[in-house]
Amino acid sequence: MIALAAANYGLKVHVFAPDADSPAFDVSAAHTIAAYDDVAALTRFAASVDAVTYEFENIPAAAAEALASQAPLHPSAAALATTQDRLTEKIFVNDLGIETAPFRAVDTPDDLIRALAEIGRPAVLKTRRFGYDGKGQRMIRAEGDVDAAAILGEFGGAPCILEGFVPFEAEVSVVAARGVDGSFSAYEPCANEHRDHILAVTRVPAPGLAPQTESAALGMARHIAEALDYVGVLAVEMFLVPQADGPARVVVNEIAPRVHNSGHWTIEGAVTSQFAQHVRAVSGWPLGSTARTGGLSVEMHNLIGAEAEDWARLLAEGGAHLHLYGKGEARPGRKMGHVTRLLPNA
Ligand code: AMP
Repeated sequence: MIALAAANYGLKVHVFAPDADSPAFDVSAAHTIAAYDDVAALTRFAASVDAVTYEFENIPAAAAEALASQAPLHPSAAALATTQDRLTEKIFVNDLGIETAPFRAVDTPDDLIRALAEIGRPAVLKTRRFGYDGKGQRMIRAEGDVDAAAILGEFGGAPCILEGFVPFEAEVSVVAARGVDGSFSAYEPCANEHRDHILAVTRVPAPGLAPQTESAALGMARHIAEALDYVGVLAVEMFLVPQADGPARVVVNEIAPRVHNSGHWTIEGAVTSQFAQHVRAVSGWPLGSTARTGGLSVEMHNLIGAEAEDWARLLAEGGAHLHLYGKGEARPGRKMGHVTRLLPNA
């Protein structure tokens, strides 16, 4: 989708990816199939382009540094390093005075027992790195015995983080962009509904979002982008926690240093899509308007696994904007496409 947006601006994209069947190759001017630690391939790739960006936060920091030494890299290797590890990310966010779930680093069974005693239960154990769509995480319930060694064994000895369970009423995200010149532009916060830890539906505007909560969420995203000296599109996922005496409190869950699934609605739903915005930002161009198209409300539904088999019905539905990603196999839980609908404001 970044490649399509870039082509729309007359730019040619060269995609570097390790998988031979990456769907992005179908819509790019050039591609390289190589491992992320193949320094010779990274060097040849960097020499062939004017700027480098990424849409996957699990590329090794060493690859980002190798690229940055040869071509402008946005977001920076430092922003990637901070945000690709849940522990460094949460420490960074707390240092800005922004609330996250309470957390502890967990490397050993003793660490887990101590962390549970300090944070309490229920709690969520996550791998520090490489997690997405609920992979690499496990809920530890309030009741029952805890076999710390067995639980950590499930994570194969990977460094982990224990987070307190946040009693949220809703989840929102702020998708925003920062330009090379420090300009900042955010889409309004969207409400995200997850099923089985996977994003299912995004709605904009977020139903019932109090103005104070909205401005707090937008302010946090801006603060984070500026503190990272970020260039490009990022998404900040947040929990809204109900308060007895006022509007919901905003607790940051995680930062995605890339375009984000909760921003897919912007393709038809906003004047500038998140992909076009990212291309503008990493090219050093002015950012575009983040206003909703015609002021309409927007709903984006992910097509997960077999749901994509509904494509013919969706094509026949007037006003449904269907996107299929061209991924080979519709495995359960795999995001195969999405559909966006613009709705008249009630
Ligand atoms: P993550 O991979 O961190 O985005 O987590 C995926 C989803 O799991 C989130 O969108 C929440 O729905 C849920 N979740 C993750 N961490 C917590 C937490 N500390 N408290 C409550 N729910 C959580």
